[in-house]
Amino acid sequence: MRMLPFPRMFYQDQLGSTSFFRFRELENIPGFIHLFTCRPADSVMTDAGKSDEVASPEQILLENLGVELEQLIFLRQVHSARVVSHRLTCSAGSRVTEVESADGVITLSQGQFPVIRTADCLPILIVLPEQRRLCALHAGWRGTRDRITAKGLGQFLELTGVESKELVVALGPAIRKCCYEVGPEVREQYEEKGHDSEHLFIGTHFDLIQANVNQLRDLGVSQIVDSGMCTSCRTDLFYSYRKEGETGRMWTAAGFLS
Ligand SMILES: [Zn+2]
Repeated sequence: MRMLPFPRMFYQDQLGSTSFFRFRELENIPGFIHLFTCRPADSVMTDAGKSDEVASPEQILLENLGVELEQLIFLRQVHSARVVSHRLTCSAGSRVTEVESADGVITLSQGQFPVIRTADCLPILIVLPEQRRLCALHAGWRGTRDRITAKGLGQFLELTGVESKELVVALGPAIRKCCYEVGPEVREQYEEKGHDSEHLFIGTHFDLIQANVNQLRDLGVSQIVDSGMCTSCRTDLFYSYRKEGETGRMWTAAGFLS
C-alpha cells in the first residue's frame, strides 16, 4: 500500500471475513455503494451465477451493505465490446439476474447492482451521481481493442443525455504495464484498429489502463480515479490469471440503493 500514488484514496476495508477496496472519492455520492473484492484468504470462490448454490462471501458482504441477492446483475462475460441496458424486473423465483453474453451493463433503474468478475482484466465503473445511474464494464485486451469503453460510454451518454464532465469514472485493480507482456499479434491488432499503439506498447509490455483512459478522454471524461493497483504484482491481495493460471475471480460491484 505504501507504494501507491494515492494510498488513502483507494483503501482496503473488511466486513466479516471478506476484504475489499473502495474509493474515498466515491463515498460521498449519495446512495452509492461500490466495492472491489480481494481474493479470499481462506475460502474457495464459487460461481455465483448459479442460483442453487450457497451464498458466496461476496454475496454475504453485499447483503451486509443492504444489497439483496436479486438486485445483482451478472454478465456472461465473453471479452466482447457489447454493452447492454438493463431495467429492474422482479420475476418470482429468480434469485439473481444473469445477462446473456455481454461485457458491460448500464443500469436503468436504481436498486440494480452489476457485478463484474475479473482476474487481471480491468473493471470500470462509470457513475452518474445526478441521475443515480451506472455503467459497469469488463475490459480485457480484446474488449479494449474493440473499444468497449468508448462504446459503453457513448451509449451511456446517449441514454442519459448528460455531458461527460458530469461523470465520475473509477478504474479498479488490473494487470498493468509493469507485468502485462503480450505477443506481437496484440500490437498488430491494436495498430489495425487505429489505437495509439506507439504509446500503449513498451517493448512487449502493454498498457491496458492507458488504452481505456484514452477512450474516456477522447469522449471528454475528466474525472477519473484509478486504483493504481496491479493484480499481478499483488497476488497477496488479488487473483492474477496471467500469473497464476487457474484462479478465482474478484468482484467489482456497484449501484445505487433504491
Ligand atoms: Zn505489475
